[in-house]
Amino acid sequence: CGIVGCVNGQSTVDRVADGLSRLEYRGYDSAGIAAGGDSLSVVKRAGELDALENALESEPISGTVAVGHTRWSTHGPPTDGNAHPHTDCENNVAVVHNGIVENHRQLRTELEADGHRFESETDTEVIPHLIEAELEAKQPPEAAFRAAIERLDGSYAVACVISGEDAVFAARQDSPLVVGIGDGETYLASDVPAFREYTDQVIYLDDGEVAVLRPTDWEISTVDGTPVEKSVETVPWSP
Ligand code: GLU
Repeated sequence: CGIVGCVNGQSTVDRVADGLSRLEYRGYDSAGIAAGGDSLSVVKRAGELDALENALESEPISGTVAVGHTRWSTHGPPTDGNAHPHTDCENNVAVVHNGIVENHRQLRTELEADGHRFESETDTEVIPHLIEAELEAKQPPEAAFRAAIERLDGSYAVACVISGEDAVFAARQDSPLVVGIGDGETYLASDVPAFREYTDQVIYLDDGEVAVLRPTDWEISTVDGTPVEKSVETVPWSP
């Protein structure tokens, strides 16, 4: 239901957790965060954000990039295991998703036949496994992300971190996503309040667009990689 991402080359988990609390008004039944950089770590819990925050206190994670999610279940009950982020078999890819992957059954059958083991009942989990399959086929991370997005039918806002990459990869189709441009840091969210405290410079993504966010640069393109000229807008402060 809510997505937050942050890339700053330093410390991102607190900012993403803060962003999730600012998106609570959207409603949710579970929440989680993946922190990345050289390796990935994921903490996720069913229930209120308090449950996630307690888990993060006893099991702190950190990373130069992070993505977080508040889930409103559509496929699979609200359990710790069905909470996002979802990962691939080797824990190299972590994905958060809003919306519904309509062709998830067909994709899951295909991926399971290729040896991918699934750990949740969600439609979302096909996405990290699709990316993993592309990485195994020697696609570079950004190309692997694009190829996976091309396979999805349905509605989605997707954000992904891949180990070894100081970047957040994101895509949108029928579910809102906005990019925030800070000073040496970039943000991503379902809605501006998630990061408004840190920057007022935003780019609204349109359907069919992919964003690749790094600490000091960003690139918006179509799923097939054609660059799109976007305007950076200044949003007024609304407490
Ligand atoms: N369909 C996904 C799930 O059930 C995402 C739901 C959402 O938008 O939060 O996990």
